[in-house]
Amino acid sequence: MLQLVDVVSQDPRTFEQVIGSRKLEELVALAKPLRGLRVLHLNATPYGGGVSEILRSAIPLLNDLGLVADWKIISGNDEFFDVTKRIHNGLQGAREPLNEEQKATYMANSELNARAFEEEYDFVFINDPQPAAMLEYKGRRSGRWIGRCHIDTSEPNPQVWSFVLGYLRGYDAAVFTLPDFVPPDLPIDLVRFIPPAIDPLSPKNLDLPDQLARQILDWIGVSVEHPLITQVSRFDPWKDPLGVIAAYRIVREHVPDLQLALVGSMALDDPQGWDIYREISSESEADPLIHVFTNLTGVGNIEVNAFQAISRVVVQKSIREGFGLVVSEALWKGTPVVAGRAGGIPLQFGDGDGGILVDSVDQCAQAILQLLDRPDEARDRGRRGRERVGQHFLIPRLLLNEVMLMEELIRKRPIEAQPETDGVPRDPVCGMAITVDQIVVTAMFQGQEYRFDSEYCHRRFLASPERYLIRP
Ligand code: UDP
Repeated sequence: MLQLVDVVSQDPRTFEQVIGSRKLEELVALAKPLRGLRVLHLNATPYGGGVSEILRSAIPLLNDLGLVADWKIISGNDEFFDVTKRIHNGLQGAREPLNEEQKATYMANSELNARAFEEEYDFVFINDPQPAAMLEYKGRRSGRWIGRCHIDTSEPNPQVWSFVLGYLRGYDAAVFTLPDFVPPDLPIDLVRFIPPAIDPLSPKNLDLPDQLARQILDWIGVSVEHPLITQVSRFDPWKDPLGVIAAYRIVREHVPDLQLALVGSMALDDPQGWDIYREISSESEADPLIHVFTNLTGVGNIEVNAFQAISRVVVQKSIREGFGLVVSEALWKGTPVVAGRAGGIPLQFGDGDGGILVDSVDQCAQAILQLLDRPDEARDRGRRGRERVGQHFLIPRLLLNEVMLMEELIRKRPIEAQPETDGVPRDPVCGMAITVDQIVVTAMFQGQEYRFDSEYCHRRFLASPERYLIRP
């Protein structure tokens, strides 16, 4: 079985205070016909990066809307994740091609993961290229497969793209953040555009009292007495952390006590992170006003929240960017952002709301200076940015879009009463076909016996049997 990522439960009604009752009711009503349907989101890492951030909030909400949603990850060794990072970079336009050995590594690992994928779902969302070949090796069976691409694939490296493209035939739908991102010759007919979103109620985004935010930064060694600018990002060349340092050095000539924080996370599927981290550390070692933090040294969601809330300016100097959740996160706190004009970032700014878009180190430095020099303008841009995020980039909107897509797919191909299992009964929770010798425990409900392959599934079933038995 694929590895499950455990998530907590979240009551959608808590969102009423943020999005209002009308929008919430719309979401609940739209999700109603999907109750009991089994949804899987598959990706490559349970932490680090925007996809895991979204899934950690979206999966509990889908469950609380009545669907049976799981988040699972594929596994792989360093060699595999080196290759998938190379594919990720290639799809974002990097020149390096894949050699035959790297392709073989990807295929062999995809096959291994597909073998571990024994469960059945009505909807399988494949997030990004790492698990893209699962469909090829597992076979479609009764599920609807949706390729959810979070990166900017508008100008992919043709050699890398032609390799990945071969695995996408047979998908029922593709989802991109922007129409511009659809790569040439995509072999999927149904294409929808759904921008990502942030969870306003997560520890990273909830309103932190100012005093508490200051204490948090003080505690990790950042002076709140001096101005601070921050970039929060995986350590990745596309996020251009060295460009941020270069821009900061220009600004420092005018604001000598300015501090820079580079807060970066390491992700399971991103082996490049350590190389970039070492480069940044050697750049910053001699300068006590440059702070470098990672999730591995205890800078987690609350600290990121404090950085985004207290910084005078948040920087996101990306060169390529799928969306950049960090931009919406900062704007939600009313903090203005100076960001690279890349991928999904301009979508979040609207017409100058929120901050300033830049195309070079020099422009980045000038924009930071402008916002430091003009606090009223900075505050006003931040306020308008928060309004825009509130209207367009909060997670209930993302769920609404996904629910609509699932309904569209059911209209095209209605749900079967019972997904095929070659006659073998299923564990109603994980969806595995369970032969007699695989039964770990059974339970009776409404006169019928159900088989489970683990105590975990058994417990989940007993907590709320009906939700696993409804089929529209
Ligand atoms: N993030 C974090 N700690 C870090 C760096 C990043 O929690 O040190 C989070 C960040 O707050 C955001 C996500 O990782 O929620 C990054 O998402 P984004 O879409 O900006 O970029 P991606 O990493 O997906 O390219």
